[in-house]
Amino acid sequence: MLHVKDISVVYDAHVVLHNISLSAARGQHVSIMGESGSGKSTLLKAIYGLLRLQSGALFWNDQLLLGPDHNLVPGEDFMKYVAQDLDLMPFISVEENIAKFLSRSHPEESKARAQELIELMGLQEVAQQKAQFLSGGQKQRVALARALAKEPSILLLDEPFGQIDNSKRNLLRRKLFNYLKKREITCLVATHEAADALSYADQVVILRSGKLVAKANPNLLYQNPNDHYVASLFSDVNVLPRKWFDANAPSEKEILLYPHEIQVVDAGAITAEVTQSYYLGTHYLIASVTEGSTLLFNHKNALFKGTEVALSISEKLLKHR
Ligand code: ADP
Ligand code: MG
Repeated sequence: MLHVKDISVVYDAHVVLHNISLSAARGQHVSIMGESGSGKSTLLKAIYGLLRLQSGALFWNDQLLLGPDHNLVPGEDFMKYVAQDLDLMPFISVEENIAKFLSRSHPEESKARAQELIELMGLQEVAQQKAQFLSGGQKQRVALARALAKEPSILLLDEPFGQIDNSKRNLLRRKLFNYLKKREITCLVATHEAADALSYADQVVILRSGKLVAKANPNLLYQNPNDHYVASLFSDVNVLPRKWFDANAPSEKEILLYPHEIQVVDAGAITAEVTQSYYLGTHYLIASVTEGSTLLFNHKNALFKGTEVALSISEKLLKHR
């Protein structure tokens, strides 16, 4: 179990993390989300032991982690960290880059393990290529394979799929995260992709300007976002006066609605004028205007610019959000 207890980190007199606390049990998947600059990378670096803490402490089970002032080599043995900037050895092959992180005393086993990791990361075709000739996405996959080589207890991943093409990303995400679950490797994943968090996280931690503003399971957080900031990390979201749907609501009260939660009806609470339809494959995202503000909703068909639509939301949604 990893415990992060009330840690703060300061860069040049500027507080970048303010009193962050979280815990991750064995095999748990924790997503760290937040806008760019919110402190995701700093949090992972601090946990790995690369940064001096201004206050607070880190524990692995009951053992206090001592950090950069006490470790000759930065980082902890039972953890692996895959940074946003990968440092592969450019002049040796993919397979050798991975093998360097495996035991030399059992060459047969190490070879089999390297093959397993190459397959897991889909690197078969480039296994013998020198790392310097790989694409950004391929490098990212080699860095992941290398981090897994000697199974760590905790894996810290900083935007692990950022450079990987869409066509490979979903498959890789499924393979990697299922592998970590099966082997009970705890992982903390900094991401700004909703798909990383919603489908895999046991716990989502939201950072904003270095502060932890929410911590919950993804379903709960998606259904009950604290505010626009949290909701907008998952999807497009509308912030609308509650009064539009409930005449009795106080005028300052707002309601957060995702585009799929708003339906076109024959006669509804509000009317809006369509400004644009965006094709998304399974449906259209429709932009519209009502009372001067933009409102986004989903619809199965495209709608012409200028069309007047009546819109409504379910009673249940109005009650619980
Ligand atoms: P994120 O990963 O969420 O984009 P970071 O953890 O990289 O955010 O950065 C958080 C804040 O810390 C930002 O304001 C950034 O400018 C600042 N910062 C990051 N690294 C350094 C550094 N080495 N020195 C000074 N400030 C830094
Ligand atoms: Mg970052």
